[in-house]
Amino acid sequence: MLGAVRTCLRCAAVDDTDDPAWALDREGGENRWLCPDCARAHARDIEARLPPEWWS
Ligand SMILES: [Zn+2]
Repeated sequence: MLGAVRTCLRCAAVDDTDDPAWALDREGGENRWLCPDCARAHARDIEARLPPEWWS
């Protein structure tokens, strides 16, 4: 993932610094990223593996 630009799934924040605080949620073979703020706010939801429809 080095050099990759990732976008937060929820708030559309962009990161290209490889900040380890970003959370990766693998869903259906697709990598979904959450910025640190969103990851913290929704940590329980991520752990519950809610379906993608929930995020919209
Ligand atoms: Zn976010």
